[in-house]
Amino acid sequence: MDPYSAINSDIDDAYLLTFKSIREAETAARACLKRSGESDYQQGILSSRILLALVDIYKGLPDQAMESLSEIIEDGDTGFTEDIQMRYYHARGLYFLNDGVYRDAFDSFVKCGNLAARTGNLLFQILSANGKGVIKLDQLEFEDAYNYFHRAQSELAGSRYPLINTLLLLNTGCALGGMERYRESLEQLNRALKESEEQDALILKSSILDETATVLVKQNRLEEALPVVEQGYRVSRELLHHEAVTEVIYNYASLLLRLGETDKAESLINGMGNRGERQTPLMLYHKVAGEIHEQQGDLKKALDSYKAVLEIREQIQGEEVLQSVFRQEIEELKKQNSQLRLVGNIGQELVSTLDLGQIFNLIYAQMNALMPVDHLSVGTLEGEKINIKFSLNAGEPLEPFSIPKDNPDSFISYCVRTGEEIFIRNVEEEYQRYTGKIVPFKANRDRSLRSLICIPLEYGGVVDGFMTVQSFTPYAYSRQDLDNLRALSPYVGIAVRNALQTEKMTELNKVLRYQSVTDSLTGLVTRREFISQGENILRVSRRNHFPASVIIIDLDYFKEINDRYGHGAGDEVLSKFGSLLKNYFQRPLDCTCRHGGEEFLVLAGNMDAVSAARRIHALRQEFSAWDFGDHHNAFHANFSCGIYSCSPEGDSSEYIGRIISMADKFLYLAKKDGRKCTYLSDELNKPAEKFIPRETEE
Ligand code: GH3
Ligand code: MG
Ligand code: MG
Repeated sequence: MDPYSAINSDIDDAYLLTFKSIREAETAARACLKRSGESDYQQGILSSRILLALVDIYKGLPDQAMESLSEIIEDGDTGFTEDIQMRYYHARGLYFLNDGVYRDAFDSFVKCGNLAARTGNLLFQILSANGKGVIKLDQLEFEDAYNYFHRAQSELAGSRYPLINTLLLLNTGCALGGMERYRESLEQLNRALKESEEQDALILKSSILDETATVLVKQNRLEEALPVVEQGYRVSRELLHHEAVTEVIYNYASLLLRLGETDKAESLINGMGNRGERQTPLMLYHKVAGEIHEQQGDLKKALDSYKAVLEIREQIQGEEVLQSVFRQEIEELKKQNSQLRLVGNIGQELVSTLDLGQIFNLIYAQMNALMPVDHLSVGTLEGEKINIKFSLNAGEPLEPFSIPKDNPDSFISYCVRTGEEIFIRNVEEEYQRYTGKIVPFKANRDRSLRSLICIPLEYGGVVDGFMTVQSFTPYAYSRQDLDNLRALSPYVGIAVRNALQTEKMTELNKVLRYQSVTDSLTGLVTRREFISQGENILRVSRRNHFPASVIIIDLDYFKEINDRYGHGAGDEVLSKFGSLLKNYFQRPLDCTCRHGGEEFLVLAGNMDAVSAARRIHALRQEFSAWDFGDHHNAFHANFSCGIYSCSPEGDSSEYIGRIISMADKFLYLAKKDGRKCTYLSDELNKPAEKFIPRETEE
């Protein structure tokens, strides 16, 4: 056995300790250095010294760390082993990361990772992947970050580094939070928190609490965030170096501010100023001012305040941590501004459209891109009734209906009557706010609707309609969403009114048009109309990065049906199949057509191949059970189906033709495989597979 292997393994353990307690890691590293010196183990001496430099970085002494690293290089002079080079690049990566010099940091981690792979060192392979991920987090490239952490997690599986596992859970949680996948993010963070507690890893615990609070705040769950931040504050005060505590105090204070606890926030910040840092109090003053402007919705003033903060920050050297926090917030503000611009653009598009259905499709597609929408409806006031023209529930349209304007139970009636906006983040907690005004949410609570925004629509200064978005998840909407909807509402109001007027005038035209674009036997649109509507569906899907599915269907043995039961029976099958198909695909982004003969086509925007196949399967269950023909001569019918789904790369008629011919190939496979089945693929070069329903779908 290698006489030094005990020292080597102690050095590894000391590396791991940096996630638990810097002080303990430092003590352990010094012990390793001493033992290596005593046994004249050069490798051990160098490793321990590199580790001590790393500890300096964590202690907030990066200059000292760099000095030590340079000394090590000079002392080692010639011929470092790959193992030492690997450790050196790891420390160098962290140094540059800490300094915000991402290119050099990334380069270092790449070198470290390559050396680790060559020497078969799993720990450093993972540490370098983690380092790359953290860089991506800092650069707000969350999906890339996620991929690094996720891959590292799978490489780690089953190894002896539980602390690293906790670290990766934390970082994956951060990345998911950045990707706005909040539920999954909190799941990972909760697991990380539990593990960090079991492992007594306070450093990790403090970061986990901090990140958890950030995710909660992003979702506007401020009351839940407060105890988390308080806990994080307690943990970090015990343990971290000064800058990190500053950051935690800042987070704590700004959360208190948002919750209206101004006094508490001020005393926290004043307490911090008294520590005699140079410009910190002034900087925080701007920070807090920015916070308040932001709350009041004055993004421009907020941006100015944050800029002031940054300027002071640039004068203060060596507090990169804070700077990146602020930079992130400025990014956030920029994003919000560009969202407002986007809303303006949608508005323009809306008012230049005269078709009500199309207007509503536009609203739906664009809302979805801005915020989660489980339910969307728009309606207008006609006399004493509110007509709800458009409603989508979980993506499916509802029949138009109306409610009386004076309905005391309806928040929609309330909104239209009073002209007040309704913004409810969590129905369970907040509906009391509206008692006395409306008896709240009976119907909606049954459907377990949990958050909503309802905005009055005006026409010529008079409230004459409403628009509402709702979600089955609590805290689905933020103030920013409210701002966006408010900004959009005048356009919606005008567009709906214009379209209604045009609609009346063109009723007759519409009938004529309907006849020219509709197949009389099935009631579905013709192929030509399909292509023209298809262009729109693909355009919306492309812009929103939705997948789109082309579905092609051919009835099985149809010639035989004609031959045996007569042409009339064949026609009946075609006509009934047409209506059924239309029923199954009636979302705004669906279009169904008779492709010719006994073939049908569907284009479904915002639907992936498997969802499309499931829907087709349900349709097949229903259709194949139907009896056709007369009592003595009853028969059943079935069909074969090909589905191709893609992230649309074009929206021209040529492009539609191309994706149809892909689906057509898969239809041929289904026919060859005995018919009454579906073949699907969602990649250009992936062979199509037969759709096998899950047992519950059988
Ligand atoms: P497969 O399972 O391979 O698709 O067999 P099939 O018999 O369905 O295939 P084929 O394409 O050879 O036959 C299609 C038949 O559909 C031919 C035509 O007579 C019939 N057809 C096309 N349009 C209509 C229509 O409008 N009404 C009726 N009743 N039959 C139609
Ligand atoms: Mg055919
Ligand atoms: Mg056929």
